[in-house]
Amino acid sequence: MTTVEIDGNNGNGKMTEPYYCIECERNHTKGKIYKEHLKYAQDEDVKDEEVEIELFTSEDDEEIIEAFKELGQEAEDEEIVEEIEDSLEDSLEDADNIDDNIENDIDECVVAVKSLPGVGEATLNKLIKAGFNSLEAIAYTPPSIIIEESGLGEKTTAKLIKASMEKLNIGFKSAEIVWEDRKKIDRISTGSHELDDLLGGGIETGSLIEFYGEFRTGKTQIMHQLCVNAQLSKEQGGLEGNALYIDTEGTFRPERIVQMSEAQDLDHAKILKNIVYGRAYNSDHQILLVKEAANIIKKKNIKLIIVDSLISHFRSEYIGRGTLASRQQFLNRHLHDLLRLSEIHHLAVVVTNQVSAKPDVFYGNPTTHTGGHIVAHCSTIRVYLRKGKGEQRIAKVVDAPNLPESEAVFCITEGGIIDS
Ligand code: ADP
Ligand code: MG
Repeated sequence: MTTVEIDGNNGNGKMTEPYYCIECERNHTKGKIYKEHLKYAQDEDVKDEEVEIELFTSEDDEEIIEAFKELGQEAEDEEIVEEIEDSLEDSLEDADNIDDNIENDIDECVVAVKSLPGVGEATLNKLIKAGFNSLEAIAYTPPSIIIEESGLGEKTTAKLIKASMEKLNIGFKSAEIVWEDRKKIDRISTGSHELDDLLGGGIETGSLIEFYGEFRTGKTQIMHQLCVNAQLSKEQGGLEGNALYIDTEGTFRPERIVQMSEAQDLDHAKILKNIVYGRAYNSDHQILLVKEAANIIKKKNIKLIIVDSLISHFRSEYIGRGTLASRQQFLNRHLHDLLRLSEIHHLAVVVTNQVSAKPDVFYGNPTTHTGGHIVAHCSTIRVYLRKGKGEQRIAKVVDAPNLPESEAVFCITEGGIIDS
């Protein structure tokens, strides 16, 4: 909640009329300050959204808008949606040779799920098809989502969650254990030591990290670099794991992966093979890709999930005041799906976010990330990127539970992200 600063103090500590509010830049009625200010704050939120939309239709973005509109129209065509979904399923199956026969695909986690009381073949099939293939996935997901997505009943779901939580010993634990758990966190180097230091040693697993900034500030370049670096050995700053890249803007370029691999003397063919790529054509598709991801993480040894960019589809599809609430609701669920994946599988989730200029801010940073408070609440670490001189970029940690708000400078070169 923003603080209300009131001018008009008469010197003896008592407020006099008028109650001039610096934030609203207007007088408040005596006795109604809080109410009026709250209304002002709500109006401002709506105004922000309107400003965003207006900016999105500026000349520069005209082309993107057209493309999104086309996609939106296409998406209305059911056949195309089905086609996209089919091709998505095919490509994911090709990508990791998912075995259709779930019975033959029983690994450790599935065995654990199968051992829960009351789980027969039918229940197991439903759970696995909906992506709930481990005790963690069942224990960490809200019951309403399990019910909706698996088709299981309320009572069964409640029983399964309770049993999973008991088996995982979920409850209170001492801070010492939390500290031990924190020590197990792995990190991916960004390629720049300065940027790594800023992030407390690199991109950490078990978290959702958001990079936001204007166009060409290097968000997509960092995402490419992380896909390469995640595959390095732990000593080299990697996770010895693979990457899953969800591309909503069509800006993934294998050429860049080749360049970045070669700059580190890596076999680019191998690096490319270990990046699972999914192009999201609309927000539904994007949500679906993340749901599908749950089924391939283990098999493909995925240690990094990228969503570049997180909300562009949500933004173009949910236009106008009336749809704002439902947009935030879907976005919230999508972000929680991602956050859960990071916690359940101990992997790093990194998302990018656009910013929109806020012309009403005359001091400080005139830009703000999109997605409102929902994105800010779900991101564990938020990094703001801006341009420096030439190939230099400046990163600033804006919000992190254990990092100071400081800055680092790095460079984008043909070989990738390096120190400046
Ligand atoms: P965004 O923040 O919009 O995702 P990008 O990550 O795509 O921005 O960054 C684009 C910038 O990356 C370009 O302006 C350029 O400075 C740099 N860049 C892209 N490709 C190369 C390359 N092959 N060699 C050097 N710099 C590059
Ligand atoms: Mg980009």
